[in-house]
Amino acid sequence: MPLTIVIDPGHGGADPGAMGFDLKEKDLNLKICKRIVSELLCYQCTVKLTRKNDSSLSLEARAKLANSLNADFFLSIHINSGGGTGFESYVYRQPAELTVRYRSAIHSEVVAYLSQHGVMDRGRKSAGFAVLRLTKMPAVLLENLFIDNRRDVHLLTDEPFIAGLSHSIALGIAKALSLPLKDNPWDPEWEIEQLLADKIINTPKTPDSQASWGETATTLNRLRGVSPPSATWNPEEEISLLLKDNIINTPRQPGDQLLWGEFATALNRLRGREVTSGPWDPVAEINALLADRLLFSPRDTSAPVLWGEFATVLNRYR
Ligand SMILES: [Zn+2]
Repeated sequence: MPLTIVIDPGHGGADPGAMGFDLKEKDLNLKICKRIVSELLCYQCTVKLTRKNDSSLSLEARAKLANSLNADFFLSIHINSGGGTGFESYVYRQPAELTVRYRSAIHSEVVAYLSQHGVMDRGRKSAGFAVLRLTKMPAVLLENLFIDNRRDVHLLTDEPFIAGLSHSIALGIAKALSLPLKDNPWDPEWEIEQLLADKIINTPKTPDSQASWGETATTLNRLRGVSPPSATWNPEEEISLLLKDNIINTPRQPGDQLLWGEFATALNRLRGREVTSGPWDPVAEINALLADRLLFSPRDTSAPVLWGEFATVLNRYR
């Protein structure tokens, strides 16, 4: 039986958590947790999020979910506030030996990453937090920098930093729980199934089939929560919406093949990642996907995007 890990993005919905510099803790928590989940996909384990979107969830419900799944590990992700700076980890008071060991592995891994960015280690702490008290399995809570500290926020709004932080947390979990790597870490069929399950796409695709602009526009619009007025699928309207919102600048035919340089550019615009202020540079756009760990190997700008790759990159992002 693979181990079950529950990842808990703190706060959500009506509860924004800490706030500072126009940021809400709940959003950063969710972003980091989704990245942790996608980083853990290459290991043999089952990962569940307590919330997948901006919904309200009580502390009791979070613990109850983990208990009902008989999870092997629970990790809650938070951002600190109150005038400090740096990183700290928490376990419940008088923790079990296994909990201490798990926390230690994760704490060391994260601090090794953060020290490269000059972030202070505030130490290994304990507290009576409800999610730590109510969960029956080893549970750890991380306070990742301070949302009301200018220098910390500078890092928290940097995509490559967030990607690296999430990677270090996932690596810490994998080391703590000795998670074996999957034999074939990349499973494009599974990636496509996730899009189907979450109704981002409605029609099954084969991993090796080429993505077209009509499908791409529809998928990107669903991801950003925008839909055209027509009740029936109208790929031209979907493309028009991308043009209107400057996600793309050149009109496309629904049947046009999607190429890597264009896809990287559209996705970077959609996620608000400004790559260059100069003329269009598709190589730089692809490099931004690599830097943010949405993509792990370089692509030719004019290579067609296949559905398996397309689904994988979108799942890492969303
Ligand atoms: Zn919090």
